[in-house]
Amino acid sequence: MFRLKIIYFLVVYTLRGTFQRREALERFQQRKWHRFRKKVLSNSPFYHQLAQQEADLTDFPLMNKAAFMANFDQINTLGIQREEAMQVALQAEMERDFSPELKGATVGLSTGTSGTRGLFLVSARERAQWTAMVLRRVVPIQFFKRQKVAFFLRANSNLYSSVQSASLEFRFFDIFQPIEKLLQELADFQPHILAAQPSILSAIAEAQLAGSINIQAHLLISFAEVLNDTDKQFIQKVFPVPFREVYQCTEGFLAVTCAHGTLHLNEDIAIFEKKYLDESRFIPIITDFTRSTQPIVRYELNDVLVEKKEPCPCGSCFTALERIEGREDDILVFPGVNGELIKVFPDLICRVIARSTEGFRAYRLRQLGALELQLELESEDFQVVSATVSAALHVFLQEKGVNNLSIACKKGIERGTGEKLRRVERK
Ligand SMILES: [Zn+2]
Repeated sequence: MFRLKIIYFLVVYTLRGTFQRREALERFQQRKWHRFRKKVLSNSPFYHQLAQQEADLTDFPLMNKAAFMANFDQINTLGIQREEAMQVALQAEMERDFSPELKGATVGLSTGTSGTRGLFLVSARERAQWTAMVLRRVVPIQFFKRQKVAFFLRANSNLYSSVQSASLEFRFFDIFQPIEKLLQELADFQPHILAAQPSILSAIAEAQLAGSINIQAHLLISFAEVLNDTDKQFIQKVFPVPFREVYQCTEGFLAVTCAHGTLHLNEDIAIFEKKYLDESRFIPIITDFTRSTQPIVRYELNDVLVEKKEPCPCGSCFTALERIEGREDDILVFPGVNGELIKVFPDLICRVIARSTEGFRAYRLRQLGALELQLELESEDFQVVSATVSAALHVFLQEKGVNNLSIACKKGIERGTGEKLRRVERK
């Protein structure tokens, strides 16, 4: 049955084709929205009344992670209580057995780097849809011949391992395992397709460069963390093969790169309202038509996206992104001379650091009151490299009006196992 569902959705998505015209896409989204409101939202106690009144999307309340969790019991359409779901999820994490279901839904814990822990529910139908969507978008048709895929994840939720059911051979690698063990298993598996977060891809590329493993992947897929240019260049130098980026979080499969390397929002599965921060940066507010167990309606994400101004040569009318800038929480904030707040986007910081020197392998800049710069080097002199990067940051931030800046430099990057690595973060 599950296989049939995947095939069904693959056919649906293939027939749908690509949208060349924005008006056609918007009409399609409206039809999907009406259907979603009627079929799904009317079954959610939280949304029932508005759905009955056939309210417009903009009349529905804005949602965020905290409100989503606070109203968990009312929002889901299966009458699942937050307490019981949390118990199932915690037990699954502890025993590393992700098969238990609750009323036909898999329960997962989101990796949230801040504050409240997220809980998400996914049904078999939604899993099939997700699988078909990823296959259709990320894995090119010619790869449908038996392909070995290595997938690195924080936890094996059923959501992800289900891709096994298709004609791909899937191997799941738990990123909580020691990296040496993972690399050995990876070398034994010899994947055709390698899917992992950028920090893991970097570690694999380092091992390949050092000669401790030798794999011949012909497609790389990066997801879960923001991929920055320094990492991308390094990974591509070691593996000069096609590279697809998936922008995915527990709230949905949000964007993927096209053949031209441009990230496009998946506007055929969700409506993206844009809360603009300036003329090109925005925070997406998503309404996902594919989620029926735990409806995602006007859900404000924490990420800052940067819109691309020129149309993409691929011809798709889905919003093209210049890049994903990172979490809104990670915008650095400094006091100005007149008591105003000076905000600096993480991406600008990344570019200043990348331009300043090539003397480091990786870095992390944290604002915990003061700035702390962590650098990972190969053989270069730490004093020299850290002084160069600090000086570049001083000049850049001074131009922005930041005075009395102090930067503490540390050798090596602190990272917890399985932790998402953010290059620039504010605590
Ligand atoms: Zn494109």
